[in-house]
Amino acid sequence: MTVSTCVKCGGHSFEVALFTPLGRSYKLSMVQCSSCGVPVGVLDPSVQARLEALKTQIAAIDERMTRIARALAG
Ligand SMILES: [Zn+2]
Repeated sequence: MTVSTCVKCGGHSFEVALFTPLGRSYKLSMVQCSSCGVPVGVLDPSVQARLEALKTQIAAIDERMTRIARALAG
């Protein structure tokens, strides 16, 4: 694996920092250079929770489809 390099200072270490976007009430996680603070990416911490909710919905749909299939077969 190649080592990520900061475009500004050439540093190789990065950290995750929480920040609140201007005018918003939620926080986002930002990956930044630990030497100079240049942001290299943003992570949305709510993605995991939303994925879990989607999984639950898909399971419920799957269960209903199984019931419909059984009703049609019977
Ligand atoms: Zn840097």
